[in-house]
Amino acid sequence: MNAVLEIDLDAVAANTRLLAARATGELMAVVKADGFGHGAADVARTALAHGATRLGVTGIGEALALRAEGVGAPILSWLNTLDADVSGAVRHRVELAVPSLEHLGTICRAPRPVPAAIHLHLDVGMARDGAAPAQWAALCRAAARAQRRGDVRVVGLMGHLGCADPDDLCTRQGRTRFAWALEIARGAGLRPRHRHLAATAATLTDPLAHHTMSRVGAGLVGIDPSGTTALHAAATLRTSLVSVREVPAGTVVGYGHDHRTTRATRLGLVPLGYADGLPRAASDRASVVVAGHRCPVVGLISMDQLVVDLGRREVSPGAPVTVFGTGERGEPTLTEWAAWSGTLPHEIVTGVGLRTARVVLPARHAYGVGA
Ligand SMILES: *Cc1c(COP(=O)(O)O)cnc(C)c1O
Repeated sequence: MNAVLEIDLDAVAANTRLLAARATGELMAVVKADGFGHGAADVARTALAHGATRLGVTGIGEALALRAEGVGAPILSWLNTLDADVSGAVRHRVELAVPSLEHLGTICRAPRPVPAAIHLHLDVGMARDGAAPAQWAALCRAAARAQRRGDVRVVGLMGHLGCADPDDLCTRQGRTRFAWALEIARGAGLRPRHRHLAATAATLTDPLAHHTMSRVGAGLVGIDPSGTTALHAAATLRTSLVSVREVPAGTVVGYGHDHRTTRATRLGLVPLGYADGLPRAASDRASVVVAGHRCPVVGLISMDQLVVDLGRREVSPGAPVTVFGTGERGEPTLTEWAAWSGTLPHEIVTGVGLRTARVVLPARHAYGVGA
């Protein structure tokens, strides 16, 4: 195997405990996009063992994959096209977010053994998923009628904030809109148990947004969008040098002759490229750790490989390479890769390709209870 993504479930366990302690209400572990690239079932089981009570995913397919892995906890799926497998979801006790009257209609018409458990979803200010405020009252009334007919049970009301800062105007408006939405729902006769607005950032910084539950994804794997809290990074990308060559000054490196060595040096070949999730945009800015030393990436990152400048160090083919990790041993963090690439840590870690093997380190409580 050319590279491995090592997943430290101790880090997930410690992050979950911290987030559960901060949340006023229940904690939903969001394991969409294969648990942010860390393995949905592993992250789900670890989070459930350390304080999360429920799971959240984007599409029904992700929820059914967790059921197939034997995960039995309540799961909410919040973003589905109108032709999604509602019957399969209800059969497997997957709750569904409802962002529109059209979605409510497809759920009511789908053959199902029992009423579908639904969460009405309001867009609180991103013009993205969720019902527009102008449609909210009609959606609440239609859901209340569907509940009386026995087609659905309205078990939740949800929104999602667009900014990490609790004092930002956009966050304050989001909280206000959500409070308004709860009142409208109450007026339509809806009294759902779950009312949820906060993701990782608001769970860490904004108790006013907590309501009865927090939905946290990034924080579980050590990414803090609020920049306030030291969480534990859970993923380390490791490989080793394929080859080492001595080159004179003036040697051109990589596609497009983008880089030229300024002195005699040694170049090392790393078998990872942009198809493995290392953005080409990070070329000539990024660095990795080779045998304990930071070495710059030189030339353009290719689809399958990149070249590092080892300087005058004696390094042999097979020397260990850490591309990113916790940073505790001098290796780059996801945050550094994100800065080099003009993106977020989320995009780097969810982009690690399928030809990189996953190796899971089980939770052994290395960070201690309450860490
Ligand atoms: C991804 C997502 C979350 C989790 O957000 P984090 O910032 O990763 O904690 C919560 N709710 C919704 C609707 C999401 O799409």
